[in-house]
Amino acid sequence: MSVALVTGGSRGIGRVISEKLARQGFNVAICYSGNESAAQDTISECKKYGVQAMFIKADVSNEADVKNMFDEVKDLMGPVEVLVNNAGITKDGLLLRMSEEDYDAVVDTNLKGTFLCTKAAIKDMMKARKGKIVNITSIVGVNGNAGQSNYAASKAGIIGFTKSVAREYGSKGITVNAVAPGFIQTAMTDKLPENVKEDYLKQIPVGRFGSPEDVANVVEFLASERSDYVTGQVIEVTGGM
Ligand code: NDP
Repeated sequence: MSVALVTGGSRGIGRVISEKLARQGFNVAICYSGNESAAQDTISECKKYGVQAMFIKADVSNEADVKNMFDEVKDLMGPVEVLVNNAGITKDGLLLRMSEEDYDAVVDTNLKGTFLCTKAAIKDMMKARKGKIVNITSIVGVNGNAGQSNYAASKAGIIGFTKSVAREYGSKGITVNAVAPGFIQTAMTDKLPENVKEDYLKQIPVGRFGSPEDVANVVEFLASERSDYVTGQVIEVTGGM
């Protein structure tokens, strides 16, 4: 059975992606940064589909953590064939009030984390002459958003990174794509003020916020052989926002 690794797979969008991949028959590894009970819950759900599942505490912005994580997954389940770079954080604020620390934390987790995990995954994918990398960016990385310059920079960076790595490894049987969600109901968006949520809703033609399931459906396609001729793309999952 093939192995899928989902970073930040313990909660929110990553959790639903992990469960969907387990349902497709992938052995699933997830990483989380602090909330172990959420990781345990996700793993229990994945195992219901009769696959192997494991969780690892790893900070995706730390190279040693990332190396250990890939080594551990390979030892226990085999090389990673599907990598979903989903772990992400926000630390919002207007530019003039944004600290260097908040800028670095967001760019390191979102963008550097994607770089480190992709680099760690690619050698085994090259050996296997197949692999699927799906990077979770954001519509904010495409359009920008006031109060999120650090987050937008990290997510726009992921788009450039995705297109470049897709060009480097297309001939090796590896596809690299990005999914750009709009407003998805998770812990990340629950913390926004009601008036901000109402404003977002007005901009969504389909008239509702997205669910983690909406995003996971597209990731499932990009992780499957049905998408073998799709690479270097950014697929927006925004309800038309
Ligand atoms: P959540 O806040 O619900 O979950 C974030 C996940 O990432 C958790 O599993 C968390 O682990 C993990 N994580 C955070 N930092 C690290 C780290 N340094 N190393 C490893 N794991 C880490 O986020 P969402 O589900 O809302 O978002 C998932 C992705 O989708 C993110 O990349 C986000 O930017 C993107 N996105 C979300 C949108 C939305 O509307 N929700 C819209 C557009 C994009 P732990 O549980 O231990 O904290």
